[in-house]
Amino acid sequence: MWFIIPIFHGLSLMPLRRLSSSRPTINNHLTRYYPVTAADLRAGDWQEIIVATGIKGRTPAIPGIDHPMVMSYTDAILGRKPIGDKVAVIGAGGIGFDVAELTSHKGVSASLDVKVFAREWGIDFENHPRGGVAGVTPEVAKSDKEIYLLQRKATSIGKGLGKTTGWAHRISLKRKGVHMIPGVEYQQIDDQGLHISIDGQEKILDVNSVVICAGQESERHLYDQLLASQVADNAPIHLIGGADVAHEIDAKHAISQGSRLAAKL
Ligand SMILES: Cc1cc2nc3c(=O)[nH]c(=O)nc-3n(C[C@H](O)[C@H](O)[C@H](O)COP(=O)(O)OP(=O)(O)OC[C@H]3O[C@@H](n4cnc5c(N)ncnc54)[C@H](O)[C@@H]3O)c2cc1C
Repeated sequence: MWFIIPIFHGLSLMPLRRLSSSRPTINNHLTRYYPVTAADLRAGDWQEIIVATGIKGRTPAIPGIDHPMVMSYTDAILGRKPIGDKVAVIGAGGIGFDVAELTSHKGVSASLDVKVFAREWGIDFENHPRGGVAGVTPEVAKSDKEIYLLQRKATSIGKGLGKTTGWAHRISLKRKGVHMIPGVEYQQIDDQGLHISIDGQEKILDVNSVVICAGQESERHLYDQLLASQVADNAPIHLIGGADVAHEIDAKHAISQGSRLAAKL
């Protein structure tokens, strides 16, 4: 029997064969989050073990990074820490954009309501002007939060986003009033806010929340535990997805790796 360790961004990789009836406990835990340890797996009679534990956010070495106003993107997204009304998002990759979108969002989402979508993108579905859009001004509710989306690179913000969707994310945040600033050096975080410099000019952003979206590292805690334990002597251990290579926005790679390995086994 073999066991795939977790849970694929909502799409669970379920155990492909039932585990030994003497180990029902782990199987039961698959329906909800349970931090599996090497000790849990030690007693099992596994033929293969697949570790798909994903990534953990990278913590940049900025003085004051342990200030109470600083939070990881997972804490921000999962609502584990309240986000204030003046927010700096450090890192403007796909996840930084998602966090800025979430933080600036108000009311019903345009992706859930046709009327809101039409209003925000300036489309008139009723009177059908030329192209559906001629003469229609998009109306987007400005965020009541002051949000800064920052990146170290001097290139334009959002350059690395998907070719077909990046422009829409950029426009959406711009219309909501999010400040997008490239070429930022982070100097310090303290009670005054986030100290930065841009082109040598020092500035303090008066913020009460700093969300870190500054890249990822593979989450290999369990994998390392397994390698160091006797579990590794009994069953081959495979590492897939973000736990193998920490790409920021690459579910396709993780799915491909998982599917190919499953087919091979
Ligand atoms: C905000 C955000 C937006 C994204 N948007 C996109 C996008 O638009 N397109 C795209 O392609 N990719 C996107 N990604 C990236 C995508 O989510 C990942 O590439 C993909 O989920 C990686 O899959 P995975 O199975 O390796 O890891 P994950 O999906 O992260 O799954 C790992 C799971 O393992 C669990 N886990 C870890 N350790 C243990 C343990 N010891 N015991 C039990 N469970 C454990 C974790 O809790 C997690 O549920 C986004 C990521 C984030 C954070």
